[in-house]
Amino acid sequence: MQVGLRIDVDTFRGTQLGVPNLCKLLSDNSIKASFFFSVGPDNMGRHLWRLLRPAFLKKMLLSKAANLYGWDILLRGTLWPGPVIGERLAEIIVSTFEAGHEVGLHAWDHYTWQTHIDKMNFDTIENLLQKGVEVFTKILGRPPSCSAVPGWKCNDKVLLAKSRFDFDYNSDCRGESIFRPVIDGKELSQPQVPVTLPTYDEVIGRHGITDDDYNAFLFSLLKPTRLNVLTIHAEVEGIVCLEMFRLFLETTQAQGWSFVPLGKLLDKSAEFDQAAIVCRKIHGREGWVSCQSNSSYDFPTISQTLERS
Ligand SMILES: [Zn+2]
Repeated sequence: MQVGLRIDVDTFRGTQLGVPNLCKLLSDNSIKASFFFSVGPDNMGRHLWRLLRPAFLKKMLLSKAANLYGWDILLRGTLWPGPVIGERLAEIIVSTFEAGHEVGLHAWDHYTWQTHIDKMNFDTIENLLQKGVEVFTKILGRPPSCSAVPGWKCNDKVLLAKSRFDFDYNSDCRGESIFRPVIDGKELSQPQVPVTLPTYDEVIGRHGITDDDYNAFLFSLLKPTRLNVLTIHAEVEGIVCLEMFRLFLETTQAQGWSFVPLGKLLDKSAEFDQAAIVCRKIHGREGWVSCQSNSSYDFPTISQTLERS
């Protein structure tokens, strides 16, 4: 029984504080995971302010976003250009890689990708990927072996641009099984390892779920005979929710589960499903999210979970 553990690192603060915390926690529990780094400028403050619409404000209050992300993130990139994470914090990315974790590309500029992907043409997308790959190559001496788009914002142009790079796999969507994406009837070679579980901010404060029962809720969603892929955030589970996440890892391991990097879930000889990547709305997240077309990804509410058990 395995859980693929994916750690998204969106910000300067998450890289600087959350990643070392998580590396220590994972080492304490003999776990290797996949880290996806944002390596260009940290402009995430712009993203958070731009979303100050009623729905987002409600989410801010429900999930205590300022606590979650820290005020420095809320302001980052709003008054002055954000720092280039891969230059300033290169040694943290290197030490994560040297600790034996899988290290992949999340973004050059998380904010730009999440906000403008709908309007980007192929060249812009390829250029953003290229910039990210170059930073990795400079600091690790090799390109990243995998990638995961910010905010699950992927489309066919992104898939085609990624196929020009040497990624062993990508993790760009929500879904239920590992598959090869299909565009206009043509199968692409880089498999997709979809995320099967919700993130903390999608769940907390909804359907009565609090920090007291979050771990039990997440555990109830694991399926022993199916693909399990969990995304955590360096900014959240690596900082404010670190102790809660430690408890989740330890109690889940005690139940016989092991946590692995996403690359370990790929059996090279296996025949994967074929599917398209489509846009859908999911619980707890603003706007559209890329989903595996032949899956019915979404998570049950806590009342449904309680009814079942
Ligand atoms: Zn992200």
